[in-house]
Amino acid sequence: MPIVDLRSDTVTRPTPEMREAMAAAEVGDDVYGEDPTINRLEERAAEILGKEAGLFVPTGVMGNTIALKLHTEHGQEIICDSRSHILNYELSMMAWFAGCVPRAIPTADGLLDWDRVKAEYRPSGPHWASTGLVEVENTHNVGGGTIYPQSQLDAICDGAHSLGLPVHMDGARLFNCAAATGLSPRDIAAKVDTVMFCLSKGLGAPVGSMLVGPRKLIDRGRTYRKRLGGGMRQAGILAAAGLIALEQMPARLPQDHANARMLADVLAALPGIAIDPTRVRTNILIFDVAGTGLTAPDFAARMKQRGVLMSAFGPTLVRIVTHYDAPLEACRLAADKMKEMVKAI
Ligand SMILES: *Cc1c(COP(=O)(O)O)cnc(C)c1O
Repeated sequence: MPIVDLRSDTVTRPTPEMREAMAAAEVGDDVYGEDPTINRLEERAAEILGKEAGLFVPTGVMGNTIALKLHTEHGQEIICDSRSHILNYELSMMAWFAGCVPRAIPTADGLLDWDRVKAEYRPSGPHWASTGLVEVENTHNVGGGTIYPQSQLDAICDGAHSLGLPVHMDGARLFNCAAATGLSPRDIAAKVDTVMFCLSKGLGAPVGSMLVGPRKLIDRGRTYRKRLGGGMRQAGILAAAGLIALEQMPARLPQDHANARMLADVLAALPGIAIDPTRVRTNILIFDVAGTGLTAPDFAARMKQRGVLMSAFGPTLVRIVTHYDAPLEACRLAADKMKEMVKAI
Protein backbone atom coordinates (compact mmCIF):
# COMPACT_ATOMS: atom_id res chain seq x y z
CA MET A 1 0.00 0.00 0.00
CA PRO A 2 1.43 3.41 -0.88
CA ILE A 3 1.93 5.62 2.17
CA VAL A 4 1.19 9.34 1.92
CA ASP A 5 2.83 11.02 4.90
CA LEU A 6 1.16 14.35 5.66
CA ARG A 7 2.09 14.51 9.35
CA SER A 8 4.65 17.25 8.83
CA ASP A 9 6.97 18.85 6.29
CA THR A 10 9.83 17.57 8.46
CA VAL A 11 9.38 14.14 6.85
CA THR A 12 10.83 15.37 3.53
CA ARG A 13 13.91 13.46 2.41
CA PRO A 14 16.89 15.12 0.72
CA THR A 15 16.69 15.45 -3.06
CA PRO A 16 19.18 13.63 -5.34
CA GLU A 17 20.88 17.02 -5.98
CA MET A 18 21.31 17.46 -2.23
CA ARG A 19 22.84 14.01 -1.84
CA GLU A 20 25.29 14.72 -4.65
CA ALA A 21 26.25 18.09 -3.21
CA MET A 22 26.71 16.50 0.22
CA ALA A 23 29.07 13.88 -1.19
CA ALA A 24 31.13 16.54 -2.96
CA ALA A 25 31.07 19.20 -0.21
CA GLU A 26 34.26 21.03 0.65
CA VAL A 27 34.62 20.84 4.43
CA GLY A 28 36.75 21.99 7.36
CA ASP A 29 36.37 22.32 11.13
CA ASP A 30 33.46 24.65 11.71
CA VAL A 31 34.23 25.16 15.41
CA TYR A 32 37.43 26.83 14.14
CA GLY A 33 35.32 28.71 11.57
CA GLU A 34 37.08 26.78 8.81
CA ASP A 35 34.29 24.99 7.01
CA PRO A 36 33.95 26.85 3.69
CA THR A 37 30.53 25.37 2.91
CA ILE A 38 29.12 26.36 6.31
CA ASN A 39 30.61 29.82 5.89
CA ARG A 40 28.99 30.18 2.48
CA LEU A 41 25.61 29.05 3.79
CA GLU A 42 25.78 31.47 6.73
CA GLU A 43 26.69 34.36 4.40
CA ARG A 44 23.95 33.52 1.90
CA ALA A 45 21.30 33.15 4.60
CA ALA A 46 22.23 36.56 6.04
CA GLU A 47 22.25 38.13 2.58
CA ILE A 48 18.86 36.69 1.58
CA LEU A 49 17.33 37.86 4.87
CA GLY A 50 19.02 41.27 4.71
CA LYS A 51 20.83 40.76 8.02
CA GLU A 52 24.52 41.08 8.93
CA ALA A 53 25.33 37.52 9.89
CA GLY A 54 24.02 33.96 10.06
CA LEU A 55 24.57 30.93 12.26
CA PHE A 56 23.97 27.34 11.16
CA VAL A 57 22.31 25.33 13.92
CA PRO A 58 21.30 21.65 13.95
CA THR A 59 17.65 22.36 14.80
CA GLY A 60 15.09 25.13 14.89
CA VAL A 61 14.66 24.65 18.61
CA MET A 62 18.35 25.37 19.11
CA GLY A 63 18.12 28.48 16.92
CA ASN A 64 15.16 29.82 18.91
CA THR A 65 16.80 28.89 22.22
CA ILE A 66 19.96 30.79 21.32
CA ALA A 67 17.94 33.82 20.16
CA LEU A 68 15.87 33.98 23.37
CA LYS A 69 19.07 33.81 25.41
CA LEU A 70 20.82 36.48 23.34
CA HIS A 71 18.01 39.00 23.76
CA THR A 72 17.16 38.56 27.43
CA GLU A 73 18.51 38.50 30.96
CA HIS A 74 17.78 35.83 33.52
CA GLY A 75 14.42 36.51 35.21
CA GLN A 76 12.80 38.51 32.43
CA GLU A 77 9.53 37.87 30.61
CA ILE A 78 9.10 37.00 26.95
CA ILE A 79 5.87 38.06 25.26
CA CYS A 80 4.59 35.43 22.84
CA ASP A 81 1.34 34.02 21.57
CA SER A 82 -0.12 31.32 23.84
CA ARG A 83 0.09 28.61 21.15
CA SER A 84 3.60 29.53 20.01
CA HIS A 85 6.14 26.83 19.27
CA ILE A 86 8.62 28.35 21.76
CA LEU A 87 6.10 27.94 24.57
CA ASN A 88 4.50 24.63 23.67
CA TYR A 89 7.02 22.50 21.80
CA GLU A 90 10.49 23.50 22.97
CA LEU A 91 10.69 21.74 26.33
CA SER A 92 10.60 25.05 28.26
CA MET A 93 13.99 26.03 26.91
CA MET A 94 13.15 29.68 27.58
CA ALA A 95 13.11 28.76 31.27
CA TRP A 96 15.78 26.08 31.22
CA PHE A 97 18.40 27.98 29.26
CA ALA A 98 17.45 31.66 29.30
CA GLY A 99 15.84 31.72 32.76
CA CYS A 100 12.81 33.57 31.45
CA VAL A 101 9.07 33.08 31.81
CA PRO A 102 6.53 33.53 29.03
CA ARG A 103 3.83 36.16 29.11
CA ALA A 104 1.51 34.40 26.71
CA ILE A 105 -1.27 36.17 24.83
CA PRO A 106 -4.21 34.06 23.60
CA THR A 107 -5.09 34.73 19.96
CA ALA A 108 -7.52 33.26 17.45
CA ASP A 109 -4.99 32.67 14.70
CA GLY A 110 -1.62 32.79 16.45
CA LEU A 111 -0.93 36.36 15.40
CA LEU A 112 -0.18 39.13 17.87
CA ASP A 113 -0.88 42.82 17.31
CA TRP A 114 0.80 45.83 18.81
CA ASP A 115 -2.11 46.91 21.05
CA ARG A 116 -2.17 43.55 22.78
CA VAL A 117 1.61 43.37 23.07
CA LYS A 118 1.71 46.88 24.50
CA ALA A 119 -0.90 45.97 27.10
CA GLU A 120 1.32 43.12 28.34
CA TYR A 121 4.57 45.08 28.33
CA ARG A 122 6.11 45.44 31.79
CA PRO A 123 8.90 47.82 32.68
CA SER A 124 10.84 46.68 35.73
CA GLY A 125 9.29 47.75 39.01
CA PRO A 126 9.15 46.69 42.62
CA HIS A 127 6.85 43.76 41.85
CA TRP A 128 7.49 43.10 38.20
CA ALA A 129 9.98 41.26 36.13
CA SER A 130 10.62 43.35 33.05
CA THR A 131 9.77 42.31 29.52
CA GLY A 132 12.93 41.30 27.67
CA LEU A 133 11.68 40.27 24.25
CA VAL A 134 8.70 40.01 21.94
CA GLU A 135 8.49 36.79 19.94
CA VAL A 136 6.38 36.27 16.81
CA GLU A 137 5.82 33.11 14.78
CA ASN A 138 5.42 33.53 11.01
CA THR A 139 3.90 31.41 9.54
CA HIS A 140 2.09 30.22 12.66
CA ASN A 141 2.01 26.46 12.98
CA VAL A 142 -0.90 25.82 15.36
CA GLY A 143 -2.78 28.80 13.96
CA GLY A 144 -2.96 26.78 10.71
CA GLY A 145 -0.04 28.16 8.70
CA THR A 146 -1.29 31.69 9.22
CA ILE A 147 0.61 34.72 7.96
CA TYR A 148 1.20 38.09 9.60
CA PRO A 149 -0.19 40.94 7.54
CA GLN A 150 3.10 42.77 6.97
CA SER A 151 1.83 46.07 8.41
CA GLN A 152 0.75 44.27 11.61
CA LEU A 153 4.20 42.71 12.03
CA ASP A 154 5.98 45.97 11.24
CA ALA A 155 3.80 47.81 13.78
CA ILE A 156 4.77 45.30 16.49
CA CYS A 157 8.45 45.87 15.67
CA ASP A 158 8.13 49.68 15.62
CA GLY A 159 6.23 49.66 18.90
CA ALA A 160 8.60 47.23 20.58
CA HIS A 161 11.66 49.16 19.44
CA SER A 162 10.18 52.41 20.72
CA LEU A 163 10.20 50.75 24.18
CA GLY A 164 13.71 49.39 23.66
CA LEU A 165 12.44 45.82 23.19
CA PRO A 166 13.90 43.51 20.56
CA VAL A 167 11.74 41.22 18.39
CA HIS A 168 12.64 37.66 17.45
CA MET A 169 10.78 35.91 14.65
CA ASP A 170 10.32 32.15 14.70
CA GLY A 171 10.26 31.89 10.93
CA ALA A 172 10.52 28.10 10.78
CA ARG A 173 8.36 28.43 7.64
CA LEU A 174 9.38 31.93 6.60
CA PHE A 175 9.81 30.85 2.99
CA ASN A 176 6.23 29.59 2.92
CA CYS A 177 5.19 33.03 4.09
CA ALA A 178 7.23 34.59 1.27
CA ALA A 179 5.78 32.23 -1.33
CA ALA A 180 2.21 32.96 -0.22
CA THR A 181 2.52 36.73 0.04
CA GLY A 182 4.91 37.42 -2.83
CA LEU A 183 7.03 39.44 -0.41
CA SER A 184 10.75 38.70 -0.22
CA PRO A 185 12.09 37.06 2.97
CA ARG A 186 14.15 40.23 3.34
CA ASP A 187 11.05 42.46 3.34
CA ILE A 188 9.17 40.21 5.75
CA ALA A 189 12.12 40.22 8.16
CA ALA A 190 13.11 43.85 7.63
CA LYS A 191 12.10 45.12 11.07
CA VAL A 192 12.63 42.07 13.28
CA ASP A 193 15.98 41.85 15.03
CA THR A 194 16.64 38.14 14.61
CA VAL A 195 15.04 35.36 12.59
CA MET A 196 15.23 31.61 12.84
CA PHE A 197 14.19 29.61 9.79
CA CYS A 198 14.31 25.89 9.04
CA LEU A 199 16.13 24.35 6.09
CA SER A 200 14.80 20.96 7.12
CA LYS A 201 11.06 21.42 6.56
CA GLY A 202 9.49 22.46 3.27
CA LEU A 203 12.92 23.37 1.91
CA GLY A 204 13.87 19.70 2.15
CA ALA A 205 17.33 19.68 3.73
CA PRO A 206 17.94 16.63 5.93
CA VAL A 207 19.22 18.69 8.88
CA GLY A 208 19.57 22.28 9.89
CA SER A 209 18.16 25.70 10.63
CA MET A 210 19.58 29.21 10.45
CA LEU A 211 19.63 32.04 12.95
CA VAL A 212 20.29 35.42 11.35
CA GLY A 213 20.67 38.89 12.81
CA PRO A 214 23.19 41.55 13.82
CA ARG A 215 26.81 40.33 13.69
CA LYS A 216 27.50 41.14 17.34
CA LEU A 217 24.61 38.96 18.50
CA ILE A 218 25.37 36.12 16.11
CA ASP A 219 29.02 36.06 17.24
CA ARG A 220 27.86 35.66 20.84
CA GLY A 221 25.38 33.06 19.61
CA ARG A 222 28.29 30.80 18.63
CA THR A 223 29.18 30.44 22.30
CA TYR A 224 25.65 29.39 23.19
CA ARG A 225 25.54 27.01 20.26
CA LYS A 226 28.68 25.32 21.62
CA ARG A 227 27.18 25.16 25.11
CA LEU A 228 24.09 23.46 23.72
CA GLY A 229 26.17 20.85 21.93
CA GLY A 230 25.77 22.38 18.49
CA GLY A 231 29.46 22.96 17.76
CA MET A 232 29.73 20.54 14.87
CA ARG A 233 32.93 19.88 12.94
CA GLN A 234 32.82 18.99 9.20
CA ALA A 235 29.19 20.05 9.05
CA GLY A 236 29.68 21.40 5.54
CA ILE A 237 28.27 18.02 4.51
CA LEU A 238 24.97 19.28 5.91
CA ALA A 239 25.40 22.87 4.73
CA ALA A 240 25.82 21.65 1.14
CA ALA A 241 22.25 20.35 1.28
CA GLY A 242 21.21 23.52 3.09
CA LEU A 243 22.52 25.70 0.26
CA ILE A 244 20.37 23.82 -2.25
CA ALA A 245 17.41 24.11 0.11
CA LEU A 246 17.97 27.85 0.30
CA GLU A 247 18.66 28.58 -3.35
CA GLN A 248 16.45 26.13 -5.22
CA MET A 249 13.61 24.91 -3.06
CA PRO A 250 11.67 28.12 -2.29
CA ALA A 251 10.51 28.34 -5.92
CA ARG A 252 8.44 25.18 -5.60
CA LEU A 253 6.60 26.03 -2.37
CA PRO A 254 3.53 27.44 -4.20
CA GLN A 255 2.83 23.87 -5.33
CA ASP A 256 2.57 22.76 -1.69
CA HIS A 257 0.20 25.63 -1.01
CA ALA A 258 -1.98 24.70 -4.00
CA ASN A 259 -2.08 21.09 -2.77
CA ALA A 260 -3.09 22.24 0.72
CA ARG A 261 -5.87 24.35 -0.73
CA MET A 262 -7.09 21.42 -2.84
CA LEU A 263 -7.22 19.22 0.27
CA ALA A 264 -9.01 21.98 2.21
CA ASP A 265 -11.67 22.26 -0.52
CA VAL A 266 -12.22 18.49 -0.44
CA LEU A 267 -12.43 18.45 3.37
CA ALA A 268 -14.82 21.41 3.49
CA ALA A 269 -17.27 19.47 1.31
CA LEU A 270 -17.26 16.40 3.60
CA PRO A 271 -20.03 16.01 6.19
CA GLY A 272 -18.99 16.61 9.80
CA ILE A 273 -15.71 18.32 9.00
CA ALA A 274 -15.16 21.99 9.78
CA ILE A 275 -12.56 23.99 7.89
CA ASP A 276 -12.59 27.34 6.12
CA PRO A 277 -10.56 26.76 2.95
CA THR A 278 -10.11 30.50 2.37
CA ARG A 279 -7.97 30.57 5.53
CA VAL A 280 -5.57 27.96 4.13
CA ARG A 281 -2.86 30.09 2.59
CA THR A 282 0.29 28.04 3.11
CA ASN A 283 1.08 24.34 3.58
CA ILE A 284 -0.73 23.68 6.88
CA LEU A 285 -4.39 22.79 7.31
CA ILE A 286 -6.05 22.25 10.65
CA PHE A 287 -9.60 20.94 10.66
CA ASP A 288 -12.16 19.93 13.25
CA VAL A 289 -13.60 16.43 12.96
CA ALA A 290 -16.06 16.75 15.91
CA GLY A 291 -19.07 16.63 13.55
CA THR A 292 -18.08 13.16 12.31
CA GLY A 293 -18.44 11.76 15.85
CA LEU A 294 -14.77 10.67 15.79
CA THR A 295 -11.96 11.99 17.94
CA ALA A 296 -8.86 13.29 16.21
CA PRO A 297 -6.80 10.20 17.20
CA ASP A 298 -9.60 7.95 15.82
CA PHE A 299 -9.74 9.94 12.60
CA ALA A 300 -5.96 9.75 12.18
CA ALA A 301 -5.94 6.02 13.01
CA ARG A 302 -8.63 5.27 10.39
CA MET A 303 -6.69 7.25 7.80
CA LYS A 304 -3.51 5.39 8.72
CA GLN A 305 -5.29 2.12 7.93
CA ARG A 306 -5.83 3.57 4.46
CA GLY A 307 -2.18 4.55 4.08
CA VAL A 308 -2.50 8.28 4.82
CA LEU A 309 -0.66 9.69 7.82
CA MET A 310 -1.79 12.88 9.56
CA SER A 311 -1.44 14.33 13.07
CA ALA A 312 -4.04 14.44 15.83
CA PHE A 313 -3.56 17.97 17.10
CA GLY A 314 -6.15 18.22 19.86
CA PRO A 315 -9.20 16.23 20.99
CA THR A 316 -10.96 16.85 17.66
CA LEU A 317 -8.38 18.81 15.64
CA VAL A 318 -6.37 17.14 12.90
CA ARG A 319 -3.38 18.67 11.13
CA ILE A 320 -2.20 18.02 7.58
CA VAL A 321 1.03 19.49 6.22
CA THR A 322 1.83 19.38 2.50
CA HIS A 323 5.39 19.16 1.18
CA TYR A 324 7.40 18.10 -1.88
CA ASP A 325 7.65 14.47 -0.84
CA ALA A 326 3.85 14.26 -1.23
CA PRO A 327 3.29 15.60 -4.74
CA LEU A 328 -0.09 16.39 -6.30
CA GLU A 329 -0.93 12.75 -7.17
CA ALA A 330 -0.20 11.69 -3.58
CA CYS A 331 -2.39 14.50 -2.23
CA ARG A 332 -5.19 13.48 -4.63
CA LEU A 333 -4.92 9.92 -3.35
CA ALA A 334 -5.09 11.24 0.23
CA ALA A 335 -8.20 13.25 -0.67
CA ASP A 336 -9.89 10.16 -2.17
CA LYS A 337 -9.05 8.10 0.90
CA MET A 338 -10.51 10.77 3.20
CA LYS A 339 -13.75 10.87 1.19
CA GLU A 340 -13.94 7.07 1.33
CA MET A 341 -13.21 6.95 5.07
CA VAL A 342 -15.72 9.65 6.05
CA LYS A 343 -18.42 7.99 3.92
CA ALA A 344 -17.81 4.71 5.78
CA ILE A 345 -18.22 6.19 9.30
C1 LIG B 1 9.53 22.97 13.41
C2 LIG B 1 9.41 24.25 14.11
C3 LIG B 1 10.48 24.76 14.86
C4 LIG B 1 11.81 24.05 15.04
O1 LIG B 1 11.75 22.71 15.17
P1 LIG B 1 13.01 21.69 15.04
O2 LIG B 1 12.31 20.40 14.96
O3 LIG B 1 13.82 21.88 16.26
O4 LIG B 1 13.79 22.03 13.82
C5 LIG B 1 10.32 25.99 15.45
N1 LIG B 1 9.19 26.68 15.30
C6 LIG B 1 8.15 26.24 14.55
C7 LIG B 1 6.95 27.09 14.38
C8 LIG B 1 8.22 25.00 13.95
O5 LIG B 1 7.18 24.55 13.24
